[in-house]
Amino acid sequence: MPALPPAEIGAPFSEIDTPALVIDLDAMERNLALMAERVRALGIRIRPHAKTHKSAIIAAQQVALGAVGVCCQKVAEAEALAAGGVRDILISNEVVGARKLTRLAALARHIRIAVCVDEFAQIALLGDAARQAGARIEVLVEIDVGGRRCGVTPGPEATRFAAEIARHDHLRFGGLQAYHGSAQHLRTPAERKAAIDAAQQAVMDTLTPLQAAGFTCDTIGGAGTGTFPIEGASGVWNELQAGSYIFMDADYARNVADEGGNAPRFDHALFVLATVISAVKDTQVVVDAGHKALSNDSGFPVVWQRPGLSYHRPSDEHGVVAVAPGAQKPAWGDKLLLVPGHCDPTVNLYDWYVGVRDFGTPHARVETLWPVDGRGAVT
Ligand code: PLP
Ligand code: MN
Repeated sequence: MPALPPAEIGAPFSEIDTPALVIDLDAMERNLALMAERVRALGIRIRPHAKTHKSAIIAAQQVALGAVGVCCQKVAEAEALAAGGVRDILISNEVVGARKLTRLAALARHIRIAVCVDEFAQIALLGDAARQAGARIEVLVEIDVGGRRCGVTPGPEATRFAAEIARHDHLRFGGLQAYHGSAQHLRTPAERKAAIDAAQQAVMDTLTPLQAAGFTCDTIGGAGTGTFPIEGASGVWNELQAGSYIFMDADYARNVADEGGNAPRFDHALFVLATVISAVKDTQVVVDAGHKALSNDSGFPVVWQRPGLSYHRPSDEHGVVAVAPGAQKPAWGDKLLLVPGHCDPTVNLYDWYVGVRDFGTPHARVETLWPVDGRGAVT
């Protein structure tokens, strides 16, 4: 059973219970608008990654601003968002196992579904599942453009896959999935540019034989928040998949912005609100947010606008906040805002978003309570 929300709509900020997952609604709306404007200027499509927010309500806002649909990473995530009204989903991932394929095909009877493959034998299994459901599934061939995760080797291999997909009545070859995950958090613009330039070459090496064999790619998909201006300007990718831009996180904040002026300035919009539950020692306090309230895989959270305070030593339910000499020590019972190290897995720890209007002002109040629809949707 989902937990009760930690606040009530209309309540002042001070009444939010902790730990809580809080959205600065004004910042999130600025991020949404900024991305929509960038994508319009680039003249290509965006299909934001919903693994970040896992929310049908937020997906609807992205679609209202021009997104063609969303990406999900899991069938269950797609089921949760489809139940909330999302009509067009790419599973930007490999889906393996008969039960999952049956669910995917069932979903494709109701909404537009696309999925990635990198294993030849999977195509027939997908084709059978779609036929049995009387559905049609679009299939992208994933190529490994440098992330060294999933994906076939760039070059002629993808053409063999496209031909096999085309043999199945209930499948449609949709193009290529060309996402470079490990490029997103390379710190300097030069490193990111070099990685995506190499990825672009890999896509072109794949496109040449595909085109020679008469295949067209409606979709060349990829890109995340760290690199999308590069893919977007390449003339090769035509569908961007950035996700984290909507919230940002402490790890993305460590990326050095593009000095060429192309880096959009997304704002921090997602916070974990925590309470100081112990203040016995002079040089530290303890908050009620540990591993069960924050994902620490990409570094610890940053304490928002409190110089000299640094979060460390998380345990299950506790986090220690060190107080540097000269910094103001929080009092017992105070609340602190933490910027998560990594937004996506942090969101997955909560049932509710608490959306705050006029965040950071004396008028800050709870405007929305949104469920994290895809929380725990890992199958
Ligand atoms: N596309 C794919 C396939 C991903 O796996 C991810 C994130 O891991 C993204 C896009 C979005 O990246 P980001 O959240 O860094 O914008
Ligand atoms: Mn992420």
